[in-house]
Amino acid sequence: MNFDFKSARHWAQALIREAVGEGGVVVDATMGNGYDTAWLCELVGPSGRVYAFDIQPAALERTRARLAAQGLSSRAELFCAGHERLREFVHAPIDAALFNLGWLPGAEKVVTTRTETTLLAAEACLALLRPGGLLTLCVYPGHAEGARELSALDAWAAALPSQEFDAMTQRFLNQTAAPPVLIAVKKQLRRNNP
Ligand code: SAM
Repeated sequence: MNFDFKSARHWAQALIREAVGEGGVVVDATMGNGYDTAWLCELVGPSGRVYAFDIQPAALERTRARLAAQGLSSRAELFCAGHERLREFVHAPIDAALFNLGWLPGAEKVVTTRTETTLLAAEACLALLRPGGLLTLCVYPGHAEGARELSALDAWAAALPSQEFDAMTQRFLNQTAAPPVLIAVKKQLRRNNP
């Protein structure tokens, strides 16, 4: 039997599948080319909702086209705004939020996610998560800002109160190419109020 360990994105999706069902409400915090937004739209089905964010108009155009081509447009709301402003746009409790950090694939590598705004947005997502809900972040430490994001997110997640959240990470220990790292945070179900 041959197998590999699979990517951070693979494991993020596997976890999100556990947390989100038909009719779910989710955030795609980094829309990019819309692959994750489309995947989330499929996951939540026709009665679900996906709120997706990006600061680059090109990301919105590509995502809008992808959703239209796949007949998924009615399941998503796309915002040309930084994810750090999430709470201006999303008020309902959410089942999950997904971050795929870094820059827009296929574009100039000048616009990338930034540590300070990523942390603000991750915090905003935790506040919106319903009990049992999930936050995933795929972090790319192979470039300078990605390495900064990873160390800040590691410290942030490790300091979350263990009575309220479970935080974990998945990373390769011996690769020189600095592959992406997954950080996942689950908001616990309230123990006194199941
Ligand atoms: N999920 C995407 C997909 O499926 O194609 C890939 C996302 S790409 C790796 C990261 C995206 O984050 C880029 O498109 C970039 O413009 C966006 N970004 C950077 N800063 C942001 C911010 N403050 N808020 C929201 N998106 C941001």
